[in-house]
Amino acid sequence: MAVLVLGSVAFDTLETDRGHVADCLGGSASHAACAVSYFARPLIVGVVGDDFPQKDWDFLASRADLSELKVLSGKTFRWHGQHNLATGETVSKSTELNTYAEFSPKLSSDSAHAAYVLLGNIAPELQLKVLRQLKSPRVIVADTMPLWIDTDRDGVIEVMRQSHIFMLNAEEAAMLTGKRDAEEAGVALLGQGGRSVIVKQGGDPSVLVSQAGVRKVPSYSKVDLVDPTGAGDNFAGATLGYLASQGVLADNLDVIMQGMTYGVATASFAIEDFGTRVHRHLTKEDIEARRSALPL
Ligand code: AMP
Repeated sequence: MAVLVLGSVAFDTLETDRGHVADCLGGSASHAACAVSYFARPLIVGVVGDDFPQKDWDFLASRADLSELKVLSGKTFRWHGQHNLATGETVSKSTELNTYAEFSPKLSSDSAHAAYVLLGNIAPELQLKVLRQLKSPRVIVADTMPLWIDTDRDGVIEVMRQSHIFMLNAEEAAMLTGKRDAEEAGVALLGQGGRSVIVKQGGDPSVLVSQAGVRKVPSYSKVDLVDPTGAGDNFAGATLGYLASQGVLADNLDVIMQGMTYGVATASFAIEDFGTRVHRHLTKEDIEARRSALPL
């Protein structure tokens, strides 16, 4: 079953303690679509500029349906991030929205009927525009980042309310709730209208909180960390991709938890190389092997 993936398609310049790369294919939609692709066919909703190279287009086209990826005259989104691997701190050194500044998603009637939808990290206004066009969603997963919590908190909360599963990391959850404990923050987000919330904690377990209960999924502990960029997008993409592959709803905690194990395994590979590079050789078998090694 196809999975609609909204988000950025970007060129990233990435610096970590392990090295530096410039103009690497990234963006929340690229990362998430690669992760979905092991389980289901992703449909990317986004925009690139006319500077987007054919080789990156061909790579994305080998993983995803690009019929909703627009090309506008101008530049592709660019992000420069610096990660301190010891402290886990990420600094956004620059963000150039470029063609995203004028992007307004208009789904074809086929795309508007997508059943599985990932509202990846992008302006809440764009996430809400896509939400309003959906005709028959079965599972909507949404993600965000600190920038949007700072600049459009109401929009972030509205996206959470209209999603089945809202994903964020512990820092973002603390920004929204004032609570540093992941489970307490998840409960507080339910109080703000969330249905199911997953609070991610890097190397510590991800916590799923919903009215039906709480579940924890451990992280994979033997990661050779190179670049954490896109970890959240890979987690979201693989989790939702699994749910889509099973054709299930997000109303059963154990099924979501199964999906999260694929999310953890896929994200653990993604952060072992810069940007989206790992997806040039990763296989479903690799993901299955690492998933089955999780201490559940
Ligand atoms: P993550 O590490 O999961 O936060 O995602 C990193 C990806 O998000 C990078 O590949 C960036 O290109 C992309 N990104 C960074 N800032 C933004 C933004 N403001 N809106 C959308 N995508 C962004």
